[in-house]
Amino acid sequence: MILTNHQLQTLNTFGIAVSAQYFVSIETKETLLQLIATEAFQTAPHLVLGGGSNVLFTENFKGYILHNQLKGITILDHSTESVLVKAMSGENWHSFVEYCIEHNWGGVENLSLIPGTVGAAPIQNIGAYGVEVKDVIQTVEAIDLRTGIHRQFTAKECAFGYRESIFKTQYKNQYFITAVTFRLQPQPQQFELSYAAMRETLQSTNYMGEGCLNVRAVSEAVCHIRRTKLPDPTVLGNGGSFFKNPEVDSTFFAQLQQQYPTIPHYPISPQKIKIPAAWLIEQCGWKGKRVGNAGTHQNHALVLVNYGGATGSEIAAVASLIQASVVQKFNIHIQSEVNIIG
Ligand SMILES: Cc1cc2nc3c(=O)[nH]c(=O)nc-3n(C[C@H](O)[C@H](O)[C@H](O)COP(=O)(O)OP(=O)(O)OC[C@H]3O[C@@H](n4cnc5c(N)ncnc54)[C@H](O)[C@@H]3O)c2cc1C
Repeated sequence: MILTNHQLQTLNTFGIAVSAQYFVSIETKETLLQLIATEAFQTAPHLVLGGGSNVLFTENFKGYILHNQLKGITILDHSTESVLVKAMSGENWHSFVEYCIEHNWGGVENLSLIPGTVGAAPIQNIGAYGVEVKDVIQTVEAIDLRTGIHRQFTAKECAFGYRESIFKTQYKNQYFITAVTFRLQPQPQQFELSYAAMRETLQSTNYMGEGCLNVRAVSEAVCHIRRTKLPDPTVLGNGGSFFKNPEVDSTFFAQLQQQYPTIPHYPISPQKIKIPAAWLIEQCGWKGKRVGNAGTHQNHALVLVNYGGATGSEIAAVASLIQASVVQKFNIHIQSEVNIIG
């Protein structure tokens, strides 16, 4: 069924009150294929919407919003070395993580509580606490929205990078991801604990001793940290980190460090250094700053928030002002991680 002028306010975590000219709930691949075959669809703009936790709508959407409701989880293969599990793309990401934890499969526990759907996870190669989803993706299945042709991408073909994939570049808005297959570890013994906050949380709950650590404990530590650190979008509209951490070349960084000796940084190769965008934004005086109903969170300069009744354009305008400040002070362009629509 195609709904018209459908309200999207509860379907995006910024809580922006915009509507979709046409709104279709995609519960089966057949519904999608039938729609793709119509001329009306082929001649109008379209956007796949999952949990709406990485989009900022700046105006009413003129065209089709395809709301992903494809559900189901199937175990394809189970051996002592690995488990292959396929999840339909409309599954809630954290529910899928919970499913893996219940089965004691390792690989996604550090990605607990990231909002959104399974199908959006490969789009920006979601990551948290030292793990990126690319590390466990085997294949991504998708339908070409121009032709209806089904295609399977290997992880290599997805061209994953830091918050990047081929679905954000060459194939932006071209494919509807229908399913993702993950290769996970049965009975995992080793865990990614490079973040001090995770080790401290696990220590305080007595899980760090030998033989005590398990996927459940790691997931609970991640959930605890996230719940205490990040604003809940159901209370305060936001899209998580608004900007990516910029990567600069080491010569440029050396000059910057002379001027700002305390600048935090992480070498990612001999030539490239990553700088936390939050620090740059904070140095520009933006932490907790408010312009009308939009602004940054009081504890997180990187999280742009809707303080109530903000339009998407107001939030995008604050984002532009922040970008300009960072260019002016540091000569660094910070890129948006959130997809700005409109
Ligand atoms: C509080 C909060 C915390 C967050 N923390 C993290 C974090 O720790 N790490 C991290 O990486 N991200 C984080 N995010 C960002 C967000 O949760 C992820 O990017 C998530 O994968 C988005 O999923 P979604 O279903 O909500 O996607 P949506 O916002 O609905 O869509 C995002 C983009 O993907 C496209 N898309 C979605 N589904 C499909 C599909 N099936 N096929 C094709 N295209 C599709 C959309 O068209 C859009 O361009 C956070 C967001 C919030 C609000």
